[in-house]
Amino acid sequence: MKSRIVLLGPPGAGKGTQAEILEKELGFTKLSTGDMLREEIRNKTELGEKAKIYVESGNLVPDEIVIEMIKKRIRDISGAILFDGYPRTVKQADALAHITDIDLAINIDVKDEVLINRIAKRLMCPKCGAVYHLVNKPPRKDWVCDKCSTNLYQRDDDREETVVNRLKVYRQNTLPLINYYSERNKLVVIDGNKGTIHNIFERIRVALEN
Ligand code: ADP
Repeated sequence: MKSRIVLLGPPGAGKGTQAEILEKELGFTKLSTGDMLREEIRNKTELGEKAKIYVESGNLVPDEIVIEMIKKRIRDISGAILFDGYPRTVKQADALAHITDIDLAINIDVKDEVLINRIAKRLMCPKCGAVYHLVNKPPRKDWVCDKCSTNLYQRDDDREETVVNRLKVYRQNTLPLINYYSERNKLVVIDGNKGTIHNIFERIRVALEN
């Protein structure tokens, strides 16, 4: 089984949702730079205050900041790691290659129309990072997290104007990572347009076992 994996894909592709399942079912530790940054912003730390303007406008936080964040967290983890939302630039991918060997990058491929619809109906748990969708994956109780009973919220950067910028930033900075991992024979592409959440997870599991 592969033990160091990267989840790639545009905003709204389902990376966070699949990361949660991979963590629960296969014992990965999830490292999500998006979750880490949102927590820093919520706690009004120095790093959070610096990152806020980038996150809220849908732009990327400078490489140095996220690379440092990942380096710090990775030190305490011994088992299998799943990177969600990192790397997002070639510079971040190079930095990661110096920290650890990556076994596989999984690109969840989803069309723009589907992404925009998903993001507009997305709900999140501020405490445990669980992701919901008003139609495709509603919480059992309205606006309350199934796992930790915290009130759910809609992310500030999920507003339509910001989403359009996030997609543009994704194409410019993150799309090149598909070639980056493909050239290193580490890329698997999963069609995330169709199939249930569970079905997509099963396809990821197969890729991890091969
Ligand atoms: P999504 O994949 O849905 O766009 P994330 O939760 O991964 O959302 O990220 C939200 C925001 O946090 C990004 O738009 C960006 O501002 C910032 N961010 C997250 N990860 C990184 C990263 N690796 N490098 C730079 N900025 C990041």
